[in-house]
Amino acid sequence: MKIGIIGAMDIEVAELIESMENIKKEEISGITYCQGTLNGKDVVVAKCGIGKVHAAVCAQTMILKFSPDAILNTGVAGSLNAELGIGDLVVSSRVVQHDFDTSGIGDPVGLISGLNLIEIPCPEKLVEKVADSARELENTKVFTGTIASGDQFICSMEKKNYIVENFNALCAEMEGAAIGHVCYLNKVDFCIVRAISDKADGSAHMDFPSFVQIAAKKSINLINNFLKTVS
Ligand code: SAH
Repeated sequence: MKIGIIGAMDIEVAELIESMENIKKEEISGITYCQGTLNGKDVVVAKCGIGKVHAAVCAQTMILKFSPDAILNTGVAGSLNAELGIGDLVVSSRVVQHDFDTSGIGDPVGLISGLNLIEIPCPEKLVEKVADSARELENTKVFTGTIASGDQFICSMEKKNYIVENFNALCAEMEGAAIGHVCYLNKVDFCIVRAISDKADGSAHMDFPSFVQIAAKKSINLINNFLKTVS
């Protein structure tokens, strides 16, 4: 079993790459793919860059060139739920693209034309396994549910409420649903893991730089736990 691991920022994958063995690196379209082993398991790890296009390019290339059996996305996100504080974890059971909007011509908000879906589902078995690995971490709440992605840093109550009202999402970030979309098209299992770095409200611009590091590390710890369970 080969696991693909994608993070948007260096801070979200650097420690994983440093811990890898038998590493081989290949750069394609500006993204470096690191193949090798981590905790003795076959992995391919890449930093995709910020936003849905970077994430989609990375996921598609990873699938075509490195054939992972499943892709995990590790990283940080803004909380949309009052119960979820800094450092808590969200494991996706489905992903949505909150900025996909053709409602002006009668479609429901968030409908992904072509897929004809609003929510892209993650495979239940993988979600359960990832959530179990998350629950091993101390002092951390673990929620499973909808993760919302869009090409926007969410930092106002107005935007936050819009995403909650339309999608009932637990957190907002900028890559997960693009990775999910690509995996869905290619019939590859996927799951998004995000640790909360901010509250996606008026304080997010202050919180994000302060907490991005501890949040990124929390998500990496989950990935390491998960890899121990992979056969
Ligand atoms: N120029 C900055 C941009 C960071 S954007 C840089 O290059 O570092 C924020 C990143 O963290 C994205 O990858 C996104 O997935 C995640 N994120 C954390 N909090 C977020 C929020 N409130 N809204 C949207 N994305 C958020």
